[in-house]
Amino acid sequence: MDTKYSVIVIGAGHAGCEAALACARMGLKTLVITLNIDSIARMPCNPAVGGIAKGQMVREIDAMGGEMAWNTDHAGLQFKILNSSRGPAVWSPRAQCDKQLYSILMAKTLENTQNLDILQSEATALIVKNGKVCGVKILTGETIETDAAVVTTGTFLRGTIHLGKFFFNGGRFNEREAAHLSKSLIEDCGIKLGRFKTTTTPRINSNSIDYSKMTVQPGDENPRPFSHFTEVEPWRKNLKQLPCWLTYTNPQTHKIVGDNLALSSIPISSGESKSPRYCPAIEEKIERYPEKTSHHIFVEPEGYNTNEIYLNGLYTGLPFDLQQQMINSIAGLEKAKVIRYAYAIEYDYSSPLQITKALATKNVPNLFLGGQINGTTGYEEAASQGFIAGVNAGLYVKGQDPLILARNESYIGILIDDITTKGMDEPYRMFTSRAEYRLSIRNDNADLRLMDTGRAIGLISDAAYKKFELYRQAVTDIYEANTDSLPTDLQLTPWSIEKAKEEVYIHKKYEGYIEIQDKIAHKVKKNQDRKIPDDFDYDKLESLSAETKSRLSQVRPQTIGQASRIHAIKPSDIAILTVYLEKQRKEKKNAKQTN
Ligand SMILES: Cc1cc2nc3c(=O)[nH]c(=O)nc-3n(C[C@H](O)[C@H](O)[C@H](O)COP(=O)(O)OP(=O)(O)OC[C@H]3O[C@@H](n4cnc5c(N)ncnc54)[C@H](O)[C@@H]3O)c2cc1C
Repeated sequence: MDTKYSVIVIGAGHAGCEAALACARMGLKTLVITLNIDSIARMPCNPAVGGIAKGQMVREIDAMGGEMAWNTDHAGLQFKILNSSRGPAVWSPRAQCDKQLYSILMAKTLENTQNLDILQSEATALIVKNGKVCGVKILTGETIETDAAVVTTGTFLRGTIHLGKFFFNGGRFNEREAAHLSKSLIEDCGIKLGRFKTTTTPRINSNSIDYSKMTVQPGDENPRPFSHFTEVEPWRKNLKQLPCWLTYTNPQTHKIVGDNLALSSIPISSGESKSPRYCPAIEEKIERYPEKTSHHIFVEPEGYNTNEIYLNGLYTGLPFDLQQQMINSIAGLEKAKVIRYAYAIEYDYSSPLQITKALATKNVPNLFLGGQINGTTGYEEAASQGFIAGVNAGLYVKGQDPLILARNESYIGILIDDITTKGMDEPYRMFTSRAEYRLSIRNDNADLRLMDTGRAIGLISDAAYKKFELYRQAVTDIYEANTDSLPTDLQLTPWSIEKAKEEVYIHKKYEGYIEIQDKIAHKVKKNQDRKIPDDFDYDKLESLSAETKSRLSQVRPQTIGQASRIHAIKPSDIAILTVYLEKQRKEKKNAKQTN
């Protein structure tokens, strides 16, 4: 290790790995400091990548030269396109991964990357002089100089682990917390920190499961890789997919949970640190939806070389004995043996209202934050921000303008725009409903949207970009029915003529709808100052969710612009409100004219 770097990245989770790789691949001397090099890119919750809206983000990172998609292709044990029975605009790739392999492969990539050094230590303070970070202090007292820093500390800052009412310090189970850096962020960088909480599920031994009582959930027959750069056929040939399974909770499970809510570490309707509404613990589901007598539990393998099984849907903060009882009440799990109990983790996060759209802190311009520290939850959300934070740290050092993605070109742009303008009062995760341009920012066209950006930053190689340009031309030619001199698949690999044809098919299918989508988005933008009557009755808008109605009724925004800035109000909600107000205005005008 040297004593001076262009960029220091703190943390080698999903955000830190993308940040460090991006900087090093941009040619900058980069150091990544992490508490434990055996847990690089660890998946402490479900070892799955992608899913609704998240899959699109992974494809976007890949199109710009990031790592997550490639790593997933080589560590995945089951691949599925979610929503495949619906239109291609909402197709979302998802892969169940071998969690150890995922971590090992990412660590190996980091180790083999030029310009990148790795150091196992704890970053304890940021040295700030004249308003800029100039060094990072580590646990043993040394200071390493730097021109920019990226903080991606995940769930570790002053982390507390909760098991029922029992709690102790820790960043994840069996990993210690980062005890010191919060103080420096507050005192040296002027950053205010809040507390969030998230939970995981118990893991059980596969040998103790009766799969005959469950429904098998196989992977896709013709799986598709995540990465634009993975060659499909050889990859498919080598892939050995494992099945997942489906079972359900039942009234007995709900009784065990319902009778013991007071013993849970999850704050049900209390003022304690908030957990993600969209990844709720079973306690929260049972409280929120008392009418439901059963919930899905997906039974998912965690790797090729382990019997550990993840119970997706059974997030809980209940104590050990109740977790065991709850599991044994479920069909197929009557004799299930727990290997790891579920726990909740509480940690410091920084409100992203304190960072710019380049993910730089407003107080210290060469300090960037990415991942769970910004109040988000999820590997993909973390990797997306880590990538952008890393790229922007690199661009800062090079004296170039930052990369800021627009809402109409990417989910990553939406994520960053949402969190930096609205903030959050609970952990943020991505959904397709947050995207007003979702018909045009699909998983199939991530390369067409973003590969030029990756190329401009210097993260797409000459060879790959040449193939991509050939492919893009083929798409245009097929669209214009100019198919006399299309390239061969050999010239295009890893792209193909089949893929180009599919792209044109999807584009044509949505062309008309995209026009309408863009018009509505334009109308919403134009109507930012439109007044909302003080006594407006949001219950009249049946297509709004109960949560949206309640938030709007509570805040009572005076204009459309104000409504759109309320946390958790989605662009689709604003479109509904705008169209309704416009209709009301026309009706009133017509009524006046008739009178
Ligand atoms: C118990 C638990 C439950 C979860 N449940 C869910 C869930 O239900 N749904 C969901 O989407 N996500 C869940 N997650 C969150 C998911 O793990 C994160 O969203 C994701 O890993 C965040 O990535 P990150 O890179 O920001 O941080 P992490 O993956 O947490 O990585 C942080 C890295 O920073 C390092 N580090 C921290 N502080 C320092 C320091 N001072 N010096 C050096 N290194 C440091 C750590 O060693 C680690 O490598 C859960 C996480 C945990 C722990």
